[in-house]
Amino acid sequence: MPQILLSKNFSLAEFTLSQTAIRKGIANDVAPDSPQFHNLERLCRAVLQPLREQWGAVHINSGYRCPKLNRAIGGARTSQHTLGLAADIVMPGGATPLEVCGRLIAMQFPFDQLIHEFGAWCHVSVAAEGATPRSQVLTASRDAATGKTVYTPGLHPV
Ligand SMILES: [Zn+2]
Repeated sequence: MPQILLSKNFSLAEFTLSQTAIRKGIANDVAPDSPQFHNLERLCRAVLQPLREQWGAVHINSGYRCPKLNRAIGGARTSQHTLGLAADIVMPGGATPLEVCGRLIAMQFPFDQLIHEFGAWCHVSVAAEGATPRSQVLTASRDAATGKTVYTPGLHPV
């Protein structure tokens, strides 16, 4: 099958690949011309492609999640990953996830949510078509006592 590009350096396959989906036999596909496809294109064009052009390689840890995969992963029911609006990224060039979040803020992208998650990756999303981006910046960490995820405003080391 020919490679389907979302932008110059990002292919659709990078956003649908999931080890969990493979292991559980979940078809985590996005049809070209579907709303999810167009959302992924917007995410790439508005945020990820400019980030890559300025700073180098971007690796997608998790991109699109069909509802079944999202449930299997334990993602929030309303996760923007299920709409193709969000990606969890790292930059293999040596920047920490905190630094990657800082770069995204410095570049003044029209992002909806930017979350420094557990010091391990950066979650970035764009708003739904026609909606105003919230420009919300959060840090997610695990509460040591309860094991629950806690969100605090702003960027912090975890
Ligand atoms: Zn995420």
